[in-house]
Amino acid sequence: MAAVQLSGIYKRYGDTQVVHGIDLHIDDGEFVVLVGPSGCGKSTLMRMVAGLEEISGGELTIGGTRANSLPPQQRNISMVFQSYALYPHLSVYDNIAFGPRIRKEASTSFKPRIEAAAKMLNLSGYLDRLPRALSGGQRQRVAMGRAVVREPSLFLFDEPLSNLDAKLRVQMRTEIKALHQRLKNTVIYVTHDQIEAMTMADRIVVMNAGRIEQIGRPLELYDRPANLFVASFLGSPSMNFSAGEVVSAPAGVALKLGDGVQIPLPGAAVTPGAKVTLGVRPEHIETSTEGIPMDVEVIEPTGAETHLYGKIGGAAWCVTTRQRASIEPGQRVTVRFPEQHMHLFDTESGSRLG
Ligand code: ADP
Repeated sequence: MAAVQLSGIYKRYGDTQVVHGIDLHIDDGEFVVLVGPSGCGKSTLMRMVAGLEEISGGELTIGGTRANSLPPQQRNISMVFQSYALYPHLSVYDNIAFGPRIRKEASTSFKPRIEAAAKMLNLSGYLDRLPRALSGGQRQRVAMGRAVVREPSLFLFDEPLSNLDAKLRVQMRTEIKALHQRLKNTVIYVTHDQIEAMTMADRIVVMNAGRIEQIGRPLELYDRPANLFVASFLGSPSMNFSAGEVVSAPAGVALKLGDGVQIPLPGAAVTPGAKVTLGVRPEHIETSTEGIPMDVEVIEPTGAETHLYGKIGGAAWCVTTRQRASIEPGQRVTVRFPEQHMHLFDTESGSRLG
């Protein structure tokens, strides 16, 4: 078991710095997901933890030991990649046994571990097969089996589900989570998929351009995003935004949007003249008999819920409703925003207000 500490970690390729001073503590047994758009530095950070990439600066400790210069094999880590990297000419059993054999373990020592891992991963009936005779999900399980038999104190997953189809991805997501609940290892999991992050993580680390934007439990980030980046990254369909200027209103202040629509901001700590962006998640918007007008342009029924797309304050907004409203494109609806679900951000800095 191992806690992981990153202090001021950065990475430079030649003159270009791609990871800018990451501070992150991961508790022993915690499942932490690094999420962010492609190119934000997730894999580089993970590969530095694994020892596959040199650390340009800062300090890494694993299980309390300084690990900056430890060779990968001495870090007690198992890594599962997007490409399963199975040996095509070896059976499932031999693929899983490859690591222990390289380390010259006796087969009496690793055989029971392989059998236990195969049972846990539903691979017991497939141990004699070659990888090409397995489905994508089964191959991914073999890759996990190989990681599990190492009995590592730290698991690293780098986009392990990206090559699977949507249905299998959902299934494997649950399996990896169940595996973690059984083994209770520390896990660092990299993905660009915010749904994977939300559903699997104990804590999410949202990264952008080589920096951490916010760290927190999934629903903390969802309910109180620290800035516009996090607010727009988590959630699907994503949070709606309209920028405007704070003006005086009869009952306190209001936000005057691009097209002149005014939205009261009761109790908001903002002063007239401030340039503010309002954010509201689609599922928090209520349709009501009076309120803010939205001309509906597109209607998307998904079965469980319906997405209404239109414009509010000159910006494109989406409203999600669970009612099967008989609304037609071109129709005007009125909506209201419950106060507790209105997020305000400083338009220039992007930081959350209040
Ligand atoms: P992510 O995993 O979030 O998609 P990466 O960690 O792969 O992002 O990459 C982060 C940044 O570092 C990118 O801009 C990428 O182009 C750059 N990068 C990655 N590897 C190298 C390399 N070997 N040499 C130069 N730049 C690199």
